[in-house]
Amino acid sequence: MSNLNRQKIVDSVPQKGFVGHPKGLFTLFFTEFWERFSYYGMRAILVFYMYYSVSKGGLGIDKTLALSIMSIYGSLVYMSGVIGGWLADRVFGTSKAVFYGGILIMFGHIALAIPGSVSMFFVSMVLIVLGTGLLKPNVSTVVGELYSEKDERRDAGFTIFYMGINMGAFLSPLIVGSVGNFHLGFGIAAVGMFLGLIMFILTKKKNLGLAGTMVSNPMSPSEKKKVFTYIGLGVVVLAVIFSILIPKGILTFAGFINLVTILGVLIPTMYFIVMYRSPKTTAVERSRVIAYIPLFIASVMFWAIQEQGSTILASYADTRTQLNFAGIKIQPAWFQSLNPLFIITLAPLFAWIWVKMGDRQPTIPQKFSLSLLFSGVSFLVILLPSYLGGTDSLVNPLWLVLSYLICVIGELLLSPVGLSATTKLAPAAFSAQTMSLWFLSSAAAQALNAQVVKFYSEDTEMAYFGIIGGASILLGIILLMLSPKIQKFMHGVK
Ligand code: GLU
Ligand code: ASP
Repeated sequence: MSNLNRQKIVDSVPQKGFVGHPKGLFTLFFTEFWERFSYYGMRAILVFYMYYSVSKGGLGIDKTLALSIMSIYGSLVYMSGVIGGWLADRVFGTSKAVFYGGILIMFGHIALAIPGSVSMFFVSMVLIVLGTGLLKPNVSTVVGELYSEKDERRDAGFTIFYMGINMGAFLSPLIVGSVGNFHLGFGIAAVGMFLGLIMFILTKKKNLGLAGTMVSNPMSPSEKKKVFTYIGLGVVVLAVIFSILIPKGILTFAGFINLVTILGVLIPTMYFIVMYRSPKTTAVERSRVIAYIPLFIASVMFWAIQEQGSTILASYADTRTQLNFAGIKIQPAWFQSLNPLFIITLAPLFAWIWVKMGDRQPTIPQKFSLSLLFSGVSFLVILLPSYLGGTDSLVNPLWLVLSYLICVIGELLLSPVGLSATTKLAPAAFSAQTMSLWFLSSAAAQALNAQVVKFYSEDTEMAYFGIIGGASILLGIILLMLSPKIQKFMHGVK
């Protein structure tokens, strides 16, 4: 987007009105609050919905398969951000993308709210994957558009927005997980997204001004014709391939999971190659792309552990944990509120520490390596109960609380840092896609998880947590040793 347009947008947004920030932040905060409310509420019960028997209201899917599906689902949700970012950038702008995305997501949750079959579940999955791809990266991009380049409130704005994400993620598992009926739970998620949409529609004109309305790199009519012909052809070819392979039993569900795993790794790899080789990338930018690779790999490792909080640890909460505790009947879905709760309480502390440390604070690669140490330890902690007491007795829930807490410390060292590092390290020609690029590390992580979770069972529990936790720590140490080198390749980015 040209600087002139950027300034025009900033001028059109009321610059005050929401805790000292542009009024538009109010709209984006609550839109994303409700979207994440619906997403994390749905995910908090989805894994149980899949593997609980039909008599308990579930779909009766094999548990290991359910854990893999959760992972590829999570992966596709972030992978589709590439399409959402592209459509916003070249076809209809971010604001429309957020709106269309919200509609698809809402219908996705409605599909689950209607008691139905496995096929309804897949319809919902497609809607939510596409909808989130349209909404999630774009709503964050609009946050950036509210502030002028030099506005000092920018980082704080993103922190407030991040709090909104986690407030939504905190509340919904508590509510959705307490109603005692899966479909009612999914219905609540749908209502959440509906409220988000209403909020967005009612306040966007007044609060967002021109933000999100411009198509930053519009296609020429001839380009449009060409691109849409290719897309149309691609869809037809895929439909034909699938309609032959599926009935013939060549593309099975397991095969599809493998395909997503491969894509999860392939897409970011291609991104890096394209960014590195593009003639629009300058020499300094090329060096920064190189520096970004180890950070990206670290991020994949971190999210692989963090995202298992809603798969492996969720099932651990359900089957391995004492749920009658201190006189309370704990719902397994409630454990999903721990991560966002700790984020909300600890994020201000971290912000304060970085301000206090000023120039003495760890560099970006050092923060990433520390993050891997914490995520590794969060898995080592959860192997202790079986080490100390075997796998026959139920485990005190405080072990899980401790594990989530330690993982969140890692998250605060990586998640906010990584997003801003991505915007600084990505070549200018690719800046519009940086949000999607960052989310691709979560996509890759969960694509790999789809395979990794297959190795989990109560018998392999200790080795499982030990090996993954150990791998994270090892990677963290390697990264720490490479940090000064990576920093050099970053050419002054801090
Ligand atoms: N949990 C955060 C969110 O939902 C970060 C997701 C990620 O980067 O994977 O926005
Ligand atoms: N901490 C995650 C994020 O920032 C939320 C979660 O995992 O529940 O949104």
